Amino acid sequence: MATCEVCFRRCVLPEGKTGACGARINRGGWIEPVYYGQLSSLALDPVEKKPLMHYHPGSMILSAGSLGCNLRCPFCQNHEIAQAEAGKFSVQTDEVTPEKLVELAEYYRKRGNIGIAFTYNEPLVCYEYVRDTAKLAHQKGLVCVLVTNGTAALPVLEELIPCIDAMNIDLKGFTDRYYCDVLKGDRAMTMDFIREAVRRCHVELTTLIVPGENDTRDEMREISGWIAGLQPVYGGKTGRDIPLHISRFFPRYRMTDRKATDVRLVYELAETARENLRYVHMGNC
Ligand code: SF4
Repeated sequence: MATCEVCFRRCVLPEGKTGACGARINRGGWIEPVYYGQLSSLALDPVEKKPLMHYHPGSMILSAGSLGCNLRCPFCQNHEIAQAEAGKFSVQTDEVTPEKLVELAEYYRKRGNIGIAFTYNEPLVCYEYVRDTAKLAHQKGLVCVLVTNGTAALPVLEELIPCIDAMNIDLKGFTDRYYCDVLKGDRAMTMDFIREAVRRCHVELTTLIVPGENDTRDEMREISGWIAGLQPVYGGKTGRDIPLHISRFFPRYRMTDRKATDVRLVYELAETARENLRYVHMGNC
């Protein structure tokens, strides 16, 4: 048996078994990533699509995804690469070593690329690949961005932070009920992760508004008030300067029992968030 310490689940794994994320395995008593260097997705995206609206706006970033996630969001738009069905993922991957990914990122400089974003699935279930690639990328003067659900343990963040320049972190709601029962996640660990990350690099946060789950003005007041109270914040800013992206939900994957979020509600909740925060952006509207 060996225990994986990467996220709140702390999976205890017998020899040869993978954890709940489907992406880490016990091999000979050591927990190792299963898909190191196996990419399911690769695209040159505008940095605003991560979403990062206040970090090198107008730039492109080479965005890479692999396989696996430790949460179970029933509306996941990337479930083919994030959620293993019957222990298997339904997509093929290509082997892209850290050296090869950095080489590609440099190649795309001519098209406005500034670096590499680790995104699409949950990158921290294979943080070793992020770390190794980001170190090389920094040596070449490229920036590195993490798009994460923020439910990793702080030692993982500590190991990565020297080579990460910016993050978009989900703060999916502000009740333990929603995090535990619906997402199968951990709100406290996410908040600890965000609290530390905002001290160390540029951070923007994202909240997807799901009807009936996290769509009240009171909850948005709590979310935005907590963000505004974060300090100290990277770059000498205050919590009020941390950008928040409020996104509209669409029914998909296993959550098709409700309609897309009303656009007027997203506007209203953005107005509520602006009582506490300077930069509130709406997504998917
Ligand atoms: S990263 Fe994966 S294996 Fe490790 S504790 Fe989390 S879900 Fe379990």
